[in-house]
Amino acid sequence: MSIEQQYRTRAKELLSSGEVKMVIGYSKGSTPDRRRPAFISTPEDVETLVLDGACIANLSGYLVTEGLLSDEKRVAVFLRPEGIRAINILAAEFQLNAAQVEILGFNTEGNEPTALSGSKVDDFAELIGTLKGIIPDTAGEELYKKLEAMSPQERFDFWQSEFSKCIKCYACRQACPMCYCRRCIVDNNQPQWVNTSSHTLGNFEWNIVRAFHLSGRCVECGNCDRACPVNIPLRLINRKMAGEVLEAFDHFAGSSQTQEPVMASFKKDDTETFIL
Ligand code: SF4
Ligand code: SF4
Repeated sequence: MSIEQQYRTRAKELLSSGEVKMVIGYSKGSTPDRRRPAFISTPEDVETLVLDGACIANLSGYLVTEGLLSDEKRVAVFLRPEGIRAINILAAEFQLNAAQVEILGFNTEGNEPTALSGSKVDDFAELIGTLKGIIPDTAGEELYKKLEAMSPQERFDFWQSEFSKCIKCYACRQACPMCYCRRCIVDNNQPQWVNTSSHTLGNFEWNIVRAFHLSGRCVECGNCDRACPVNIPLRLINRKMAGEVLEAFDHFAGSSQTQEPVMASFKKDDTETFIL
């Protein structure tokens, strides 16, 4: 039996038994290589679920849709390893109760999906441990190496040129599971912290603020750069920040449900003078 059929059968069991009220998975998209999120709440509809190498979007962000988990019922979701890491972060940041999440875990290495064993986020702790410090896929790897070899000025020029293309559509934010704030700083206009029009300074502010906000929280799922209509390689700046926090704090985002956010925690006895 294919993994797609196995997971359809599992989804049907979960819905029929009432163990979950909804299954969040993938269905066919508008082109053969794209998949759409699917929100299935009846056993009959599970036949529309698709699971193949094109199922790459991280679906974890849908779990923090306002009100979805507030009735304390459970929801099943198809997740790759980076999506499972995202569940840990969302739980650690008190955005969801991980006990309400049934994970239908899979990987798509080599383009063919394979099943991951486990159903609760803690079942995947060992797997996540093996991923520490490893780039989850090869998207942009060559460009990343080039950026690493550049001088700081060259890198600055590269990002300035990339960010100058930004049209401030905020699709990157909407697609990111870690951007769950109901009101984002960029939507605030009294005072207006970040200029909303699309010009070099405002674009730079927006993208750098976002990169810092994601430091130690990004799981490198790539939802952001797939969503960007002007193809800014956003994942690479977040990857750089992930590498920095790994090196400086031995922090690998999404390792556990109790992991403290690296940029939002401090020790009272830290000798840094800006804290004391
Ligand atoms: S910043 Fe991009 S790659 Fe990182 S978690 Fe958000 S969407 Fe995924
Ligand atoms: S998705 Fe791209 S164009 Fe839109 S705000 Fe983000 S970086 Fe800018």
